[in-house]
Amino acid sequence: MLNSPVGEYQPRVLLVDDEPRVLASLLELLNGRGYHITTAGGGREAIEHLSRTPFDLVVLDLHMPEVSGHDVMDFISVRNLDAQVVVTSGATEIEAAIGAIRQGAYGYLRKPYPREELYKTVGNALQQRRLESENQRIAQQLKRSERMYRYLVDSSPDIIYTLGPDGCFTFINDRVQQLLGYRREELIGQHYSTVVYEGDMERANYVFNEGRTAFSQSRSVELRLKPLRAENEPRTFSIVMVMIQPGTDSDSVKLDARHKTEGGTYCVARDVTERKRADEQIAYQAYHDILTELPNRALFKDRLGLALLQAKRNETNLAVMFIDLDRFKVVNDTLGHGAGDALLQQVATRLKACLRRCDTLSRLGGDEFTAVLPELSDRQDAALIAGKFVDCLRQPFQVAGQPVHVSASIGVALYPYDGSQQEELVRNADIAMYHMKSQGKNGYAFFHASLLETSYQKIVLEHDLHMALERGELEMFYQPQVDISTQKIIGAEALMRWNHPARGFMGAGEFLPFAEESGLILPISDWMLEAICRDFLEWTALGGDSMRLSLNISPQYLDRGDFFEKLKNALVRHQIPPGQIEVEVTENICIRNPQNAIDQLDKLCQLGVSVAIDDFGTGYSSLSYLHRFPIHTIKIDRSFVMEIQDSGAQFPVVLAIVAIAQGLGLNLVSEGVETAVQAKYLADAGCRIMQGFLYHQPMAQGKLVELLSAQASGGAELHTLN
Ligand code: C2E
Ligand code: CA
Ligand code: CA
Repeated sequence: MLNSPVGEYQPRVLLVDDEPRVLASLLELLNGRGYHITTAGGGREAIEHLSRTPFDLVVLDLHMPEVSGHDVMDFISVRNLDAQVVVTSGATEIEAAIGAIRQGAYGYLRKPYPREELYKTVGNALQQRRLESENQRIAQQLKRSERMYRYLVDSSPDIIYTLGPDGCFTFINDRVQQLLGYRREELIGQHYSTVVYEGDMERANYVFNEGRTAFSQSRSVELRLKPLRAENEPRTFSIVMVMIQPGTDSDSVKLDARHKTEGGTYCVARDVTERKRADEQIAYQAYHDILTELPNRALFKDRLGLALLQAKRNETNLAVMFIDLDRFKVVNDTLGHGAGDALLQQVATRLKACLRRCDTLSRLGGDEFTAVLPELSDRQDAALIAGKFVDCLRQPFQVAGQPVHVSASIGVALYPYDGSQQEELVRNADIAMYHMKSQGKNGYAFFHASLLETSYQKIVLEHDLHMALERGELEMFYQPQVDISTQKIIGAEALMRWNHPARGFMGAGEFLPFAEESGLILPISDWMLEAICRDFLEWTALGGDSMRLSLNISPQYLDRGDFFEKLKNALVRHQIPPGQIEVEVTENICIRNPQNAIDQLDKLCQLGVSVAIDDFGTGYSSLSYLHRFPIHTIKIDRSFVMEIQDSGAQFPVVLAIVAIAQGLGLNLVSEGVETAVQAKYLADAGCRIMQGFLYHQPMAQGKLVELLSAQASGGAELHTLN
């Protein structure tokens, strides 16, 4: 009612008197003072007004006939009307006036009253009324805002609670039940340690006590809290705590009267369990290899850095190992990536089992692992562990339902002997590993300064090889193939040589692997195609007109897809009959990209070029591809031929290969025949075509042409060793 500004609001006043003269003078006195005035000439009329309109003040004559002022007051109190009453009465009715005051009237005016007194009493009554309704409004507002706060607190996603100075809960919102399962009533009066996870108790106690010295400073702490049901995992909360200072109010947090005097701690606990898990997951993934769960390159670097610092400080030794699997690619290509992954996991597990707690094994990617081994007493310690690594891989792995053998080449670099910096140690371990690979794999090698020389030499070699192409230092040699039934050279295999300005002639095995690594093999192979075509034409011109030329083809070159076109174009350009050309591929090309290989070999066949399987029997593949590929010739690998030393013994692998060739109607060539014993055994087994030092070394084109012309004129002695 009185809630608008006083200046605008006109208090409603009801004047009640049965004497018209008194009523008129009252009206006259109060008129023009800012009141909204209504008059009633008796009790009945007053009640009518009161039941229709609300009034702020009733100036009420007590003594009236029929319906008296008391009756009007009764009406007001029965109806619970919110109106202030000032009663007026004559001197004789003083008792009645006192009764009216008791009945709740605000004031009493004894007739005849001076006008000042009237003004004062009416003014005060209205003032009082205004204060009362102001109070009521504030009380209502308080109630509303309290309800609001309560709502805010209870619907907060966080647990909000207060602790007394003794650490017991004095307040807690409903959220605690949802997140931890406790009912709030259960917790009130309990010590906070009931909900804190044991592992975090010390920290909880520390922050709680620390907070008691620094008021109004908020502190944050991350704590794990125990759910009511013990089988549930503790949840992690990020808790902000503010001290409630004893005896202060509005500027610190005030929750109930008790805090005001005793002080305590106000806390907001946010459940960060999920976020924390996600963070941990992200951090884990940033530092671990997902496949093997080993540390990754980043964590490896980190650990190595730490281990180096420690080794420097404690003057101890430390080993860095580079572990690279041999033949992993073959497994991956043949059995598929799933199997490759499974193999890597198993390898990781075995390697890890060889290590001490302080060692770190990590996977850099692919089939490369590294290990940091701190606190070694000497080189022997490192050798011991490297040896364990090698040994632990000896037993076959079970992958995709079949046994798979892998081995590893391991390089070891030692701090402080082989370097004092991270990069240096890792590089040197890597160099030692490559050295091991070149020494036949499946073992470990320590770094040695002389290896730096070797790897430097590699770089130089690669550069030189680049130049070799431009400078024309490459040359094709040819190793004749002899048909022992006629003693005639029926063909020759093209083998590349590098006429190195400083080193002299280098065998293909000495430089082609670098060419493969560096991609130089592609331009080199392009060059080779041209070179052999030119040479072939010279053979035909000089008597070797039915000679077959065999060429080796790098898997990389075949993989590129345009090999067939290139060969065909070269043959057409030089008008060479394709039937006199044989392409040698190893079994492994069938693994890399079998479809592409089949396609290209098929096209070669259609063109009339024949295909030989080189190094037969050493590759990874099984016999199954023999049916899938268009093959004309099998070359028995030199390693099988080499085993034939004793003329009386049996060599079942050789016999088996001969039987396969005969069974499938394929040509057969024996490679690397060096002794008469070998030649005889192979001939007896059924092989007619021989290639090897026993007959001829690979030779320059000029030499071959001489031989061929001699053969054509019928005077060649083919059985000599040259
Ligand atoms: P491959 O195809 O198995 O070639 C036979 C290798 O055995 C040749 O080595 C040859 O000189 C050698 N050899 C021949 N007869 C005997 C023998 O009686 N005893 C011994 N101990 N060795 C013998 P080379 O020329 O060093 O070639 C090595 C490999 O390099 C070849 O193995 C072939 O795979 C590859 N290669 C050679 N020339 C080329 C080429 O022009 N292009 C490509 N892509 N690869 C080539
Ligand atoms: Ca060959
Ligand atoms: Ca071979």
